[in-house]
Amino acid sequence: MIRNEEVYLSGATVRGALLTAAISQRRDQVSEEVDRPHLVFHPAFPIKNGSVFKPAHPFIYKCKVCGEVRDCLADFLRDDLKIGRGVPPRLCPRGHINTLKSLQGKLLDERFQEYEPAFTRVEAVGMNKIFKTSEIGMVFSYTCLAPGTRFRGTVVDLSGTRLDVLGLTGEREVRLGRGSSRGLGYAFVRVKEEPDYLKRLEQAVQLSIEKTRPYILLKAVAPTLLPALDASKPEGLEWQGAWLAGEKRFSGFSLSTNRPKASLRCAAPGSLVAYRVGTGDSWVRWVVDTCSLGLGPFNHLGLNLLEVMGP
Ligand SMILES: [Zn+2]
Repeated sequence: MIRNEEVYLSGATVRGALLTAAISQRRDQVSEEVDRPHLVFHPAFPIKNGSVFKPAHPFIYKCKVCGEVRDCLADFLRDDLKIGRGVPPRLCPRGHINTLKSLQGKLLDERFQEYEPAFTRVEAVGMNKIFKTSEIGMVFSYTCLAPGTRFRGTVVDLSGTRLDVLGLTGEREVRLGRGSSRGLGYAFVRVKEEPDYLKRLEQAVQLSIEKTRPYILLKAVAPTLLPALDASKPEGLEWQGAWLAGEKRFSGFSLSTNRPKASLRCAAPGSLVAYRVGTGDSWVRWVVDTCSLGLGPFNHLGLNLLEVMGP
């Protein structure tokens, strides 16, 4: 796969790869999914030695001198969400002064190790389309993710049957990103059902809120439109603000018309939003839905997906 700016697969990339794989056999069913989507594609993040690497929130800092990492999410909560973005603590855990820098948006595992992708170089020769021979002076070199790179993500099937109808359960070969005509971007995908997904998500939400009360923190794992989050919050949650891990433009090409989609300015993956939690727990359902289905519009294209955070 050609190196883009990202080293993970966005929900839109996973969606494009799977629906394109289904289109030759089941064109009508793919059109049905495009017109009336039932599938929500989460991004697929790299895994290495059993760990998943996900975008860091803005309050994880790394010392530029000794490399020590400090997670200040607990301080952020203790200070009533007052420490702002861009104001790192003065001291690194080993006593260096003014050397901490936020790792926001970088892919980290649970022990704050940064993801280091393996790259490989691929040379390709330009072909003359008329004479079917190589074009003199046209040699391309690409930096690609090395074969063997693994990713894991979630696809939520609202109907419970659409993945089956599209013939996407089980294993298959798909093409990711550009360059498949040059032999690049071929990947092997395995779709496995997880019957306990919602139950485990609900437990994670309950566990987090015990640590973060009276707040609940959600972290964007995909580009997210903040007005949608503020506007859709249910009774019992009070919007406290967003702490951005940067901005991200979302655009792409439509599968059905092959025309460019509208370009949207979003909060980058890793951005945090916080709500103050009122009495009752009627909002728990909303949080579980937001973490599994995302928020419309555009959640089916891999936007507005979040996960619940705790220190
Ligand atoms: Zn240090």
